[in-house]
Amino acid sequence: MKADLHLHSLFSDGTYTPEEIAAAARRNGIGALSLTDHDTVEGCARMAAACAAAGIEYLTGMELTAAVGDRELHILGYGFDPGEPRLLAALAHFQEVRVQRIREMCERLQALGVPLPAEAVFRLASCRSPGRPHIARALVEGRHCGGFEEAFERFLKKGRPAWVPKARMTAAEAIALIHGAGGAAVLAHPALNHCDDLIPALAASGLDGIECYHSRHTPSANGHYLALARAHGLVATGGSDCHGMNKGRPLIGSVTVPYALFEQLKLRAGQRLLERASAPAAC
Ligand code: AMP
Ligand code: FE
Ligand code: FE
Ligand code: ZN
Repeated sequence: MKADLHLHSLFSDGTYTPEEIAAAARRNGIGALSLTDHDTVEGCARMAAACAAAGIEYLTGMELTAAVGDRELHILGYGFDPGEPRLLAALAHFQEVRVQRIREMCERLQALGVPLPAEAVFRLASCRSPGRPHIARALVEGRHCGGFEEAFERFLKKGRPAWVPKARMTAAEAIALIHGAGGAAVLAHPALNHCDDLIPALAASGLDGIECYHSRHTPSANGHYLALARAHGLVATGGSDCHGMNKGRPLIGSVTVPYALFEQLKLRAGQRLLERASAPAAC
């Protein structure tokens, strides 16, 4: 049995519903999964129900955008309580920041002569955590761009004329937020962020795991991060990072993560939950 611990739905920048994800996971022989939408837990309840109906094991998940200096990192949270008040307050803040950023990016597009109203993006996104992929889709639907990738290349990539930087929490804050909700914190797709030098400090901040298997990692990168995880006593995880049909062919099922790693991650999250339960109440 295999697992996929990195998936996006239409509650962030994926195109599939939780039910479509569960059906695709079943077709691909996936026995355990986690939905890891960006900066939101909006899809957790529906994903849990869809997995239960499909006979798939489910673990709560999310992908937080964080920073170390001027570098962006993504921190995955697993097995946390999706109703934890501090977590919900922090997510509400970062969702507000995302909404404001969409407005600013649309203003930039308008100044560039591309008449895309922010409301068109919000209508299309229809979730609490809109992002650049929603702008890209709105640009394609409005025939301002020929394709999704073109929208990023011309306007939305870092440094392109409509790009606006995103306010982010620090990686240590992201890890603390996940631990505070009783979950395990995992560094997402490290090979894409060129952040090996940061791993010792992240481990010292309480990082629990490294996403060793990822659809954009080469086999040698997988091996490299498995060795790093072992060296730092961190759990190894992995997933496809499927965004549905947003980025061409759906990636679900393209990355095989051994079920034993899912079990280890659940154990680690269980330890964090126990630690939280025994920690003195925060005032
Ligand atoms: P945001 O969180 O709004 O900054 O958007 C980031 C998301 O945009 C990532 O999670 C990817 O799904 C997508 N993305 C980032 N860069 C590109 C790119 N060059 N081409 C296509 N999608 C991208
Ligand atoms: Fe994404
Ligand atoms: Fe990511
Ligand atoms: Zn992702």
